[in-house]
Amino acid sequence: MPDNPPPHGPADPTACPGPCGGTRPPGKYVCPSCWHRMTLVTRAYLKKQDDLAIERYQQLVEQFGRGVPPCEIRVIRSRWEWDRGGAR
Ligand SMILES: [Zn+2]
Repeated sequence: MPDNPPPHGPADPTACPGPCGGTRPPGKYVCPSCWHRMTLVTRAYLKKQDDLAIERYQQLVEQFGRGVPPCEIRVIRSRWEWDRGGAR
């Protein structure tokens, strides 16, 4: 089963959005180094392919842009959590 590429990547599609300055494999959100530094919960949510996948990726990039380390990245699980302002 092929991976779905992230819907909105940075200008360089191979650049990892994390603090590593590295590159990410095709079809992945981040490089393996950053991926393995994120929590299991965050990784599990990011792997979900539902209608919030784009928003989770945008949250990931936004937090990396603010200098949040990979281990502290949080993304929403569900629309319910989004409405309640969870994961903020
Ligand atoms: Zn990285």
